[in-house]
This record gives sequence, structure tokens and C-alpha cells, in this order.
Amino acid sequence: MSSMRFSVLTLFPEQIESNVRRSITGRALERGVISLDTVNIRDFCTNSYGKIDDSIYGGGTGLLMYAEPVYEAWKSLFADDEDRPYTVYMSPKGKVFTQKKAAELSKEKHLCIICGHYEGIDSRVTDLICDEEISIGDYVLTGGELASCVVIDSVSRMIEGVLPNEDAYTFESHMDGTLESSSYTMPREWNGLKVPEVLLSGNDGAIAEHRRIDSLVQTWMKRPDMLDKLEITESEWEKMLALRRTL
Ligand code: SAH
Repeated sequence: MSSMRFSVLTLFPEQIESNVRRSITGRALERGVISLDTVNIRDFCTNSYGKIDDSIYGGGTGLLMYAEPVYEAWKSLFADDEDRPYTVYMSPKGKVFTQKKAAELSKEKHLCIICGHYEGIDSRVTDLICDEEISIGDYVLTGGELASCVVIDSVSRMIEGVLPNEDAYTFESHMDGTLESSSYTMPREWNGLKVPEVLLSGNDGAIAEHRRIDSLVQTWMKRPDMLDKLEITESEWEKMLALRRTL
């Protein structure tokens, strides 16, 4: 079984620990399918009074984290003769995170995620050690901790042995550029609303076909921008229209 190591450099390790050490990722940690170590950047402070940040050259409000403690914290993760981890900086300036990026990162053996705080980190160190910058969306957070938990969560569930089987993440929204079809559980009728008959039919072929068309309809209704990137045949359009009329 493959196993992946996540290392997070942060000023708030407990935010990462309390998020990741529970539920599905927590169980994956217990089983050793993934491992997590958090490094408190403050432990690598170069002054005796614990100062980790300073005002910004050239002016501007707020404080910026020093380069040196981040660099030393990063170097503490691996020995000189060891491979350096694939290193990412959580940043609103990064490329926006996607399911495709999560799949790519899930192939790494050791992923180091750096979280900034305040106004961020001195650019010299992030430019020097990071392979890429990743943003979780076009908005600004107060720190990279929530963002790194998002990355760890979505990357983890693509690692073999974290979810019960590969199907659990193969047939999901965003895996193939579409959204998942609508899903239902017991009871068959709730609040006067019935589960589509075909899903109760036991006919695997008909169910697969319904799900495929419904997945296209869901994408059409909820994320038309995604539909533009798909090639849809005329006969699929007809089935989509027919299904949409019943919703
Ligand atoms: N002054 C910076 C923002 C700093 S926000 C700028 O304008 O670009 C403080 C920290 O929060 C950042 O260092 C980063 O680690 C994290 N952060 C903020 N928004 C984020 C986002 N959308 N995605 C990922 N990390 C983010």
C-alpha cells in the first residue's frame, strides 16, 4: 500500500492537527496510509523574544513573516542526503486549486505545505523553496491553515487505502469535468417526492445510462461554464432535454 507524508509549516499547528486527525483522514493517519507532521515556524525564530514578523519595506500596512525561520523550518524536514519534499505555498496569488491538481499532488511521496499569516511571507524564501503557489479561490484568508486543510483533505481521499475503494472517488463531481448525478437514499418516497423509478429497477445498464445523462443535466443546470468544455452528441442533448423536463 502506498503511503504519503504531509508536512505543514505553520504558526498554528493545532489548527491543522485538529482538522486532519479526525474522521476519514484521522483514520487514514491511524492506519498509516498517510502521515502528518506539523512544524511550528516560531520554533525556528532567530531572535530570543520570539518575533516572527516585521513591517514591510517600501511601506504598507501590516506585518510580513521573516524569511529565515521559514527556511530553517523547511530544512528541518529532510536530511542533506534526502530528497527535498515537493513544496507548495498556500497563497491567494497561486493557481486556483482543482480536482486535477489534487490528483497530481496525490502522486507525491512527501508534500510540504507552507502557511503564511498576517500579510504573508517575505517573497525571497517562498520564491526560493516552493515548487508552486496554490490558492483555494479568489478571496483572501487571514492565514494559510484552512487552505492547507482543504488541500490535505482532497489529496488524501485520492490516495489508495484512504477511501474504501477507488470507485468512491472515481465517480464523483469534477473527476471527468462533470458534476455527479443526483443521489437518493431511504425512504423511496419522502415528503411526497419519489426516487426516480429507474434507480429502483435493478437494471444496471439503464441505471448507468440514467446517471450519465443526469450528470450532464446537473452540470448544465448548476455549472453551465463546465458544459462548454464537454463534447455532447445530439442524441445526448435529446435525452438531457427529456430528463430536464421531468425535474
Ligand atoms: N498580502 C497577501 C495576502 C496575505 S493573507 C496578498 O495580498 O497576496 C495571509 C496568508 O493567508 C497568506 O500568506 C496565505 O498563506 C494565506 N491565504 C490567504 N488567502 C488564501 C487563498 N485564497 N488561498 C490560499 N491561501 C491563502
